[in-house]
Amino acid sequence: MAWHKKPKTNLTKLRIVRMIVQIIMFFLLNLVFFEIGANWLVLPINMPQTIFSSSEGSFFLLQRMLSRAIIPLIPLASFLIIGGIFGRLFCAWGCPFGLFQDIIGLITSWVKKYEPTHSTNNSMRQIGELITGGTLLISTFIGISVGLGNQADVEAAFGSFFEQPWAVLSPAVFLFTAIPVIVYWGVLGELFRIENLGSIDILLWIRLAIFIGAIIMIIYIPRGWCRWICPVGIIMGRLGEHSLIGVGRNITKCNHCGICEDVCPMGVQILSHPAERVRSVHCTNCLDCIPACDEDAMELKIL
Ligand code: SF4
Ligand code: SF4
Ligand code: SF4
Repeated sequence: MAWHKKPKTNLTKLRIVRMIVQIIMFFLLNLVFFEIGANWLVLPINMPQTIFSSSEGSFFLLQRMLSRAIIPLIPLASFLIIGGIFGRLFCAWGCPFGLFQDIIGLITSWVKKYEPTHSTNNSMRQIGELITGGTLLISTFIGISVGLGNQADVEAAFGSFFEQPWAVLSPAVFLFTAIPVIVYWGVLGELFRIENLGSIDILLWIRLAIFIGAIIMIIYIPRGWCRWICPVGIIMGRLGEHSLIGVGRNITKCNHCGICEDVCPMGVQILSHPAERVRSVHCTNCLDCIPACDEDAMELKIL
């Protein structure tokens, strides 16, 4: 059905409002750019500490505290409290790397998107689970070694991976720290001059390759990074399954037309969840399914 594929007016309005909120959040998270405050917010988002940030993503702080043998109470509290109440809400409404993916999606909206099946979504999510588990194991190992007084040895052994193992490879870190620094100091042209290519650190090439790979993935799979890879999404997804706030269906109004599933940017199989509450690791509480429903059956639910 043709109308099925057209975004409805209310859905379009919601998506515009969400993008405005995401942009406002981006500036709130980078207040140092306006010389206001510094690193006072710890949120479950994919945002590293940068020269401009007034915030830091919980997973980045978690790695740093573990590696320094400090009990990571603040990032854990950030995950548990925000995830327990709002689920993955910040993924839809506040994460700068989520905004980046939405902008890439908008710019490349003419490209035919690939919609993975539910089972593909779930199996590919295991990549993110491996990255998350592996990173936490490495950070814990480093922290224990530091606690035992072997900091110099372990620092020498892990090099760039010592403080925040995942940050070294994360495309969000590349986007928000490496690229601004390269551009800010005007070294871009110098760095990539043919005669200088051989002297570029191999790690920079790897980071560049991951960044480009992530962009290609995002172009073809909307929010692909959020679905399958991002450790914050992995952790918050598990908490989101049990969060206080989420969406649900009014079973007396629902006619099982499936439009809500069609518009869901995260590919959540809404109808396969109990009507009273969609409890999916993938749901970001973006709320797109609410205005998309002709029968007003989708609702914001508390508890
Ligand atoms: S899952 Fe996506 S939106 Fe959520 S923190 Fe990660 S990158 Fe950001
Ligand atoms: S909740 Fe609404 S959009 Fe979803 S299947 Fe039911 S009637 Fe259709
Ligand atoms: S189920 Fe609804 S609120 Fe959750 S991600 Fe999909 S469209 Fe957004």
